[in-house]
Amino acid sequence: MTTVNLICEFMEKFAPTSVAEDWDNVGLLIGDRQQTVQGVMTCLTITPESVEEAIKNSASVIVSHHPMPFQAIRQITSDTTVGKMILDLAKNSIAVYSPHTAFDSASRGINQQIAQNLDLQQPRPINLVLETDDTIGSGRIGQLKSALPLAELVEQVKKLFGLQGMHFVGQPNMSCNTVAVACGSGGSFLNSAIAAGADTLITGETNFHTCLEAKARGVALILVGHFPSERFAVENLAEVLAAEFPDCRVWASTAESDPVNWL
Ligand SMILES: [Zn+2]
Repeated sequence: MTTVNLICEFMEKFAPTSVAEDWDNVGLLIGDRQQTVQGVMTCLTITPESVEEAIKNSASVIVSHHPMPFQAIRQITSDTTVGKMILDLAKNSIAVYSPHTAFDSASRGINQQIAQNLDLQQPRPINLVLETDDTIGSGRIGQLKSALPLAELVEQVKKLFGLQGMHFVGQPNMSCNTVAVACGSGGSFLNSAIAAGADTLITGETNFHTCLEAKARGVALILVGHFPSERFAVENLAEVLAAEFPDCRVWASTAESDPVNWL
């Protein structure tokens, strides 16, 4: 019989919480470890839509990439969106587990998956977490199979993430060879990526000043969007959990979507 605790134990092996960043809030955030589990829903973020979906489909656990709650809160009331979602989840005995930056950095984590999908050669973490394990760490960096003009790489990345368009910084004809990846909001990796030898950084989103800095340093920056850069990985995680817990119904949320639209 699967319990919340067994899901936690598996996630701890898959994406050890010791690997998460210090500022993060990871692990079991809401719930009772002894509760039995029938349904598991993965999602990128807990939203009113994904809470409704979890309740409707009798989920016992939500494995949400992004933590909720993320920051310390002093009231849990229906006056705030987060408070209301926590109350709704608690009323329906739905636990929340969040791996967040542990999943970004794990050996089978999001950045490793992006590096593999880009076919980067010998991808390695930009920053190691443990001196003893070079498969775990934040971001990834590796060589493209052959150097590409930025415009061509952008087209490839668009196809890979199924996008109609995206922002990029750099001259379309500049040569991209050593590529760093950082899922989500990864602009803070620009300096360490450059120090590691990257001429290109692919991330979800960043701010205007990081775009200016990349331009000034002659480094290409490709912004695929926060949601597209991570959502695919919670779909893969649903498959991993389904194989590990065959007695549970496991699915990736279909109610959540990218809040940022293109026209
Ligand atoms: Zn994210």
